[in-house]
Amino acid sequence: MKLLVIEDEEGLREALMTSLAGEGYEAEGADNGADGLDMILTGLYDLIILDVMLPQMDGFEVLRRVRKEKNHIPIILLTARSALDDKVEGMDMGADDYVTKPFALEELLARIRMVLRRGEHQVENDRLHVGDLLLDTKTYTIQCEGGTRSVRLSAKEYKLLEYLMLNPGRVLSREQITERVWGYDSDAEYNNVDVYISFLRKKMQYTKTNVTIRLIRGVGYQLEAGEHD
Ligand code: CA
Repeated sequence: MKLLVIEDEEGLREALMTSLAGEGYEAEGADNGADGLDMILTGLYDLIILDVMLPQMDGFEVLRRVRKEKNHIPIILLTARSALDDKVEGMDMGADDYVTKPFALEELLARIRMVLRRGEHQVENDRLHVGDLLLDTKTYTIQCEGGTRSVRLSAKEYKLLEYLMLNPGRVLSREQITERVWGYDSDAEYNNVDVYISFLRKKMQYTKTNVTIRLIRGVGYQLEAGEHD
C-alpha cells in the first residue's frame, strides 16, 4: 500500500510519513497542492491524505480536479478548522473521510484502515464490484458475476449506479444523488431520482443479480447485496 501525504507543514508531513512507514505503508510527501495533484494523477497511490490549507492550490481544488478526472482514489481530508462547512463541502466534493486538526495519530490510522477496507473489491480492471454485481466502467454495462446477461446503461444511469456502488450499504439522500448525478446547478427534480432508480432496478433484475436498491422511506436509497429469495 502506497500513501501520499500532501501537507505543507514540514514537521507534520515528516512525522506522518514516519508513522505510516512504521505501520507498514509506503509513504511519500508533497508540500503544495499543485505538486500533490500531479502526483495523484500518476495513479501510483492507494490513498491520499490531503490537507485543505495548502500553498499554490488548496485541498478543495485538488480534490475537485481529481474527481473531475473521474479518479476515485480514496482521499482523507485534513481540515484545520472544526467548521462544519469544511467537512460538508469536502464530503460533497467526493472526499472519503476527514480528520480535524489537531488529531491523534491513532485516529488517522483508524480512518485510513476504514477507507482502505471500504475500497476493497471495488475497482479492479475497470470494473466496480459489489456483491455479485459488476459494473464495467469502460463500456457502461452491468452484469451478474457468473451470469450471461449484460445490459448497457445510459450515462445518467451509469453515474447513479456508480455513486451507489462506491458507497455500498450507505444511505444516500435524493439530494445527494441529485447533486452527484445532475450537478449543483441543475433544475432536475428529486422525482428524477426515483425515475432513474426504477430504470436501474429493471436493468439490474434482468442481469439476475441479488444486489438491490432499497428505498429507505423519508431518507433516500441504499445499495444492498442481499440473498436470492
Ligand atoms: Ca496546511
